[in-house]
Amino acid sequence: MRSALGGPRLLLRRLREISAESVSAQTRLDKIVIQIAANMVAEVCSVYVLRADQRLELYATEGLNREAVHLTTMHTGEGLVGLIAKSAEPLALSEAQDHPAFSYKPETGEEAYHSFLGVPILRGGNTLGVLVVQNKVRRVYSEEEIEALQTTAMLLAELIASGELQAIQDPRDLALYRPASLKGAPIVEGIGLGHVLLHEPRVVVKQLIAEDISGELARLEQAIDAMRITIDELVAHGDRMGAGEHRDVLETVRMVANDRGWVRRLQEAVMSGLTAEAAVERVQNDARARMQRQTDPYLRDRLHDLDDIANRLLHQLTGQSYVADRSSMPDNAIIVARTMGPAALLDYDPKRLRGLVLEEGGPTSHVAIVARALGIPAVGPVSGIIDIVDTGDPIIIDGSTGEAHVRPQPDVQSAYAEKARLRARRQEQYARLREVPAITKDGVEIKLHMNAGLAIDMPHLAETGAGSIGLFRTELQFMLAPRFPRMEEQRRFYKDVLDAAPDQPVTFRTLDIGSDKILPYMIKIEEENPALGWRAIRIGLDRPALLRMQIRAMLKAGAGRDLRIMFPMIANVAEFEEAKKIALGELDHIKKWKYPPPSALHLGAMIEVPSILWEIDLIAQRADFLSVGSNDLVQYMYAADRDNTRVSKRYDNLSPPVLRALERVVHAGLRANTPVTLCGEMGGRPLEALALIALGYRSLSMSPASIGPVKSMILNLNLDEAQIYLATLLASDDGAPSVRERLRDFALTREIPV
Ligand code: PEP
Ligand code: MG
Repeated sequence: MRSALGGPRLLLRRLREISAESVSAQTRLDKIVIQIAANMVAEVCSVYVLRADQRLELYATEGLNREAVHLTTMHTGEGLVGLIAKSAEPLALSEAQDHPAFSYKPETGEEAYHSFLGVPILRGGNTLGVLVVQNKVRRVYSEEEIEALQTTAMLLAELIASGELQAIQDPRDLALYRPASLKGAPIVEGIGLGHVLLHEPRVVVKQLIAEDISGELARLEQAIDAMRITIDELVAHGDRMGAGEHRDVLETVRMVANDRGWVRRLQEAVMSGLTAEAAVERVQNDARARMQRQTDPYLRDRLHDLDDIANRLLHQLTGQSYVADRSSMPDNAIIVARTMGPAALLDYDPKRLRGLVLEEGGPTSHVAIVARALGIPAVGPVSGIIDIVDTGDPIIIDGSTGEAHVRPQPDVQSAYAEKARLRARRQEQYARLREVPAITKDGVEIKLHMNAGLAIDMPHLAETGAGSIGLFRTELQFMLAPRFPRMEEQRRFYKDVLDAAPDQPVTFRTLDIGSDKILPYMIKIEEENPALGWRAIRIGLDRPALLRMQIRAMLKAGAGRDLRIMFPMIANVAEFEEAKKIALGELDHIKKWKYPPPSALHLGAMIEVPSILWEIDLIAQRADFLSVGSNDLVQYMYAADRDNTRVSKRYDNLSPPVLRALERVVHAGLRANTPVTLCGEMGGRPLEALALIALGYRSLSMSPASIGPVKSMILNLNLDEAQIYLATLLASDDGAPSVRERLRDFALTREIPV
């Protein structure tokens, strides 16, 4: 930009003054376009704002016919302005009418102008509008002028985002505030209504215009240096990486941070008059706008890396916090995060949490386990959500469909509010059943227990009226810990769990790691088939020191009370015997050292590897109790990965092979007089629970939220009738892959809620 015209800095200063004046939004916009036109020696300056219906509307102009303001509109993609909005890139032409995209709007009177320079108004990589200058004479706009106009567009972006234009237009009409419905996968069931709380808040750049360019250049350089040092340290101490920070991401970040082209672009932006942080935002805006239009997943991943760097730098420059301010959390917060470690979710006040949306990360992510334990609805992966939301935006999530509705329309809002009310009413009904024993209409009592894995699960024991903790998944604690928990830490944790259930039994399961359950601090072993690999009791028996330590911690924690321990993934009797020997050895040890032992020790086996079905009587005679892990049992029976949706839905739990296998286990228990429980997810689904009870199960352990629905099914069930009906279904030789539909009809015609 020629300095004779005052340059972008003078323009920015003038615009800042205009921004501070107390005038109406329209007057402010009018003044802004006059100022830009004068500064750029252009006859025309116009601002187009993108509306929710994807049309660009002329909002202000100097030079074109002012009658056309708020009347002239065009599609994105239509004309030169539409092209800029669509491509999100600047366009400079000395003869606009020669461009194939040129489209003539007679009401504006723009035929008199030959040269055209337009830039997108971008925020967070999203196009909010287009800023244009035009000249009568044919002229070539310089690089500096294009830069200057882009910088000016940043200011307009802030103006649009500030909500000031609401005075001119209903905010819903602007693209920025457009309602959007995005689809991910269900993680935790339930409906969440609330406001977005970005887990990693966007840095708000308050000061766009530099007072002292050389000072800003120095700040930029210092911040880049400081960031490089932090990244080098993070790469060097890989074991101390925070949530979601993987080495390869950091390596990429390091590469870009050292990239000369990137640093030069930042410096140029500062030299055009921006503060260091505004320069980062400017450069990142351009990069995002370009990359967002990429369909190549590899390049889109790079966009995340670039975002990561820009964010780090912005935090470095502004000193603003990396994570959302927990103290000023709204009452109905729905956390939106790209990724999140499980421990981070626990840092939020659970009373104010209404939901969780993950941009990357689905039902098997570790944070999903915590969301489940907290009982908050969750969805993910919801791709692209971070780009279109900001802290404070209204949002609704539906944990049963995986949908996230951002800035929902009133009809969507009321439909969901109604759904949430119905749900709450149902929850109240379940709560009223808390003290009611689960007895069928014909008088058979079914024991309902709950599954747990974290200390935060324990209050559910009293809330649900569960009989005991039927499955305590100890690995969750290990997954959340920053390093392998020592014996004393484990002992304290188990003691806390037992203390939280003073009158009810707790069945601890020894570490079930491997496959998808990875401990972040343990070397990851690459296996071809991790689900069939080195996991659960296999690790325990091959590394007995770990198993011994865990059992010793449990025995000490269980001093003076009944202690129940079970072993996961027992494939044959020999494995159970080996594990039992270790446990009894530990019991001897603590007695020998005069630690107070548990009053009784019960050792159980999980039935989840199909081979054990052919030694089921042997194991039933040796174990103190059996617990069926139907999630794994079904996955291994059908050789279909439980987390792979392509195959996991192919086979039904309510199929004759699965039901016959489950029946075999319960019968073996009866023959040996050994209690049998089922603790897989199917026990928590009313229709499946109905089938299990009809097969002979009298004890089921499930997630706390399932206890109410299963109990209300049981209270309405005539067991005798169900038993006869299921037996006829299983006796039929029609080869049907599932009895689900017929069983559901049976239940519905008898008004059994399933
Ligand atoms: C199961 O496999 O059914 C089970 C209860 O264990 P997990 O889901 O932890 O593997
Ligand atoms: Mg299992």
